[in-house]
Amino acid sequence: MARVDTIVLGAGIVGTSVALHLVKRGVAVALVDRGGPGEGTSYGNTGIIEGNTIFPAAFPSRLSALIRVALKRAPEANYHLSFLPAVAPWLMAFRAASQPDRLIETAQVIRPLMTRAVAEHEALAAEAGAEKYFRRTGWLKLYRSDASFNAQARELELAARFSIANVPLDAEAALALEPSLKPAFRHAVHWTGAVSVSNPLAVTRAYAARFAALGGLTFSGDARSLHRADGRFWRVDTAAGPLDAGEVVVALGPWAPDVLKPLGIRLPLGVKRGYHRHYRPRGNAGLSRPILDADNGYCITPMEQGIRLTTGAEFAARDAAPTPVQFDRVLPRARELFDLGDAVEDKPWLGSRPCFADSRPVISRAPGQSGLWLAYGHGHWGLSLGPATGRLLAELMTGATPFCDPAPYAAERFSH
Ligand SMILES: Cc1cc2nc3c(=O)[nH]c(=O)nc-3n(C[C@H](O)[C@H](O)[C@H](O)COP(=O)(O)OP(=O)(O)OC[C@H]3O[C@@H](n4cnc5c(N)ncnc54)[C@H](O)[C@@H]3O)c2cc1C
Repeated sequence: MARVDTIVLGAGIVGTSVALHLVKRGVAVALVDRGGPGEGTSYGNTGIIEGNTIFPAAFPSRLSALIRVALKRAPEANYHLSFLPAVAPWLMAFRAASQPDRLIETAQVIRPLMTRAVAEHEALAAEAGAEKYFRRTGWLKLYRSDASFNAQARELELAARFSIANVPLDAEAALALEPSLKPAFRHAVHWTGAVSVSNPLAVTRAYAARFAALGGLTFSGDARSLHRADGRFWRVDTAAGPLDAGEVVVALGPWAPDVLKPLGIRLPLGVKRGYHRHYRPRGNAGLSRPILDADNGYCITPMEQGIRLTTGAEFAARDAAPTPVQFDRVLPRARELFDLGDAVEDKPWLGSRPCFADSRPVISRAPGQSGLWLAYGHGHWGLSLGPATGRLLAELMTGATPFCDPAPYAAERFSH
């Protein structure tokens, strides 16, 4: 029987960062996953470490946009009709949280984490030898019309208030930054403080290797085996036998409810599924940073495997079969902007962003279960916020002064 102080369930960017921060504070930690580190949602994202996102992705405010989604013509979103009754309460809560005053409130409460996103990654990357994956070139949002550019005026106003660096550009100036882009857009904003990575999987693997080098233990096991043992410990069954600890962190991203529901913890997590596929650039075309086509809700970003095209949200059951119809809608648009050649893989990758309707993660004790901690629900920003989350939770668990007020991220917010 192995025993440690803390078991961290889930070796995505969030769980791996929590485990690494705990082991750096002298805690004996075991990191448990059924696969390898970073192979879940943390593998397939756009690789942007934002720090400068102000508003969360919002429910469409314009009727025309909503109708486009409803008619399944929207490039930015898709849904499974059969899933709508199940997701309706979550969508209503998401719509309420997308009202202008609530978006500003979210922007304010997420700031303390966001402002640490890049710095906390850089600190871990330096000690893990992962700096080679990091690009300090910001990211570029493109707008095809004056209307879509003007629609984000409020975001630029708030950016000025929060002192978040950005440079609005005309098409010519944007093309000077990214010469392989084609002039299918009118405006751009270069968010200069953002960082991106060329291989998110390799980054999480590097942090996991650092965790192991500092004495952290890694086990293969099914988190759903979590149960109380001897009235004192939490126990998980692993490939190497049972593993006990006084404290457990659930960092299972979209799979967290599989473990929490049997324990009576029912927090309203939804998922926004998303796809990616890599394409070979034609000729000498290349990119230096992620690009968002704001009018069509997809990104293209340079990765080690090729140019990764990532889609917006799909509302469907987490485990339903893939329906990558958004590629048919966005690929022609993407080819208007960049010379994408053949696909690298036979099929697109599918992942599920773990999302609470208020666009904040839960980073806190679990309600009603001693020794159980939660770190999940990072939605669109999990890659960015993993290391900052790791630091915050490790500070809370070890009784250190947290670097920011953790109250907005408490699970209890769903009880009132
Ligand atoms: C298309 C797309 C683009 C995105 N782009 C960005 C971006 O540019 N920037 C950004 O910041 N974020 C982005 N995100 C979001 C980000 O990827 C996620 O928020 C983040 O990866 C969540 O990390 P996690 O560690 O919580 O979850 P995961 O990475 O999913 O980790 C959970 C782990 O739990 C393990 N697990 C699950 N069930 C069990 C079980 N029963 N037993 C044992 N182990 C189990 C899994 O194997 C997995 O390793 C994007 C997401 C998508 C889908």
